[in-house]
Amino acid sequence: MFRFDNTCVTGLSGLESWISEPPVSKLSIPYGRDPEGTKTPIEEAQRKKNYYRCPECGEFLTPRIGTQRQYFAHKQGVLEDTSCSLSSDEGVEKMIEDLRTSNIEEGERERSIRAYLGQRHDGGIELFGIVPSLDWDQIQKDEDVDTLLDKVEIKATGITHPPVPSNFHPSEAEVTLELDPTADSYELQITGPDALGSITGTWTTSGLQHGDLFVGDETRAQRYNSDRQVRQDMWVYLVSKNPPQSEVSFVDVYDFAEVVLLGFRASEKTEPFLDRYSGGLSTENYGFDADVVLPAHTNPTVEAPLYAPPEESVLVGVTPAEQVDPIFEVVSIPKDANDTVEIDRTGPGNPRYYTTEVPSDGSRRVSIHQRNSDRHRFLHLHPSEESSNVATPEPRSRQIGIEIQDENHREFLTPIGEPASKHMPADFNPHLLHTNLEYVGPEDLELEVTATFAEDASLGPTISRDVTALSDIIPEAIHWVESGCNDLEIRFSGIGTVSIRFPQEDQ
Ligand SMILES: [Zn+2]
Repeated sequence: MFRFDNTCVTGLSGLESWISEPPVSKLSIPYGRDPEGTKTPIEEAQRKKNYYRCPECGEFLTPRIGTQRQYFAHKQGVLEDTSCSLSSDEGVEKMIEDLRTSNIEEGERERSIRAYLGQRHDGGIELFGIVPSLDWDQIQKDEDVDTLLDKVEIKATGITHPPVPSNFHPSEAEVTLELDPTADSYELQITGPDALGSITGTWTTSGLQHGDLFVGDETRAQRYNSDRQVRQDMWVYLVSKNPPQSEVSFVDVYDFAEVVLLGFRASEKTEPFLDRYSGGLSTENYGFDADVVLPAHTNPTVEAPLYAPPEESVLVGVTPAEQVDPIFEVVSIPKDANDTVEIDRTGPGNPRYYTTEVPSDGSRRVSIHQRNSDRHRFLHLHPSEESSNVATPEPRSRQIGIEIQDENHREFLTPIGEPASKHMPADFNPHLLHTNLEYVGPEDLELEVTATFAEDASLGPTISRDVTALSDIIPEAIHWVESGCNDLEIRFSGIGTVSIRFPQEDQ
């Protein structure tokens, strides 16, 4: 295996004729812009020449799509006349790192108040802002957070009930600011000790303007910025100074302060409307879904904090667009707080899973990021007041795993966390598997069932089956156990495994 870096290749122009596809570097330019300017990750690129352009220098890129590796490279010869920061590994690495930074983190770094519109319980609409509370990780061990907060001073403009320092305590998920919808701009000036550097500074955002677009859920829609994509079924509020046109029958109209709000759900039907009023914002480039599967009660389209008992398991299903198999990674917010974790690939279009848990104290904020794109899905976990009580079993809607009914008790094996296994008694009757084994979890999750057999068994050494319903495999599993299977492993696609052991008489 030989390897050049780009500077070498440009210096070797005379040799290019024999190097038809130089293996320039392990790194690829993450994405190219198609003729409409849409950022296309290399995993989603088509084999088209003179089509994608470099996001830095604007010259053509060639998508090289091999079975081993896919990458974008500058069209041959381009770099002889143009210099581009993406011609070096350092430049590419910097771009990959920049893409990894979520829009939430970027906004907070710039001290930008996130602005939301939402419907209250009484049906009225409110405009509110969100700024982060403190994070336990940012407080030194020898510092007392209450003492630090006592030294904080807050000045506010345009904010109806300004927050008080204790609102920023790490036990709070976030700080909500009630915004006066008639104000031109909002400002929250926080001064305090250096140790509180993650919240101090002047947080700002602008007032409501004609054409502003808020996207999310009816109760919590965030003001759109250019990095945001809309998913089908998301709720959209459009701010207008004019009454709506009669042609738009699918929108709800709200009088709000000095403006009119048009509320509607993003769908194929509303796509032309969305396109016309939002400068090309569409549902097409949304890219991937990240749904919180467990706990089951959560709303996947809202980036609001998810409150659940401390240390409760959280399972996030990440589904790429059809036919693509990109790498997803879990990035901390802020990014440097923890290592970035890669989620295992499961094949084109297939869901993959990320498991974590609700912290015991304070928030955990992460972003699920599609590598080589600027697509991020925000996940904010925060412990609820209620603590998990070991004596009361978790409701089944919050579980995933295999439930085994033993003579007089039930046992639950979950693939989340440490590998779980159950030893069946030596006199176990395999036919009881029909009634004693039950799958608990999201529908249609792919399971891989692998039976391992004793050495002298007539079957084996191993047999594997892919199923989406555990009951489909039970008759065969009974036959396996009767034929010398001593270990039945059930792999929950992308999550983990549980196993059931059957002692065989001859062991
Ligand atoms: Zn370039």
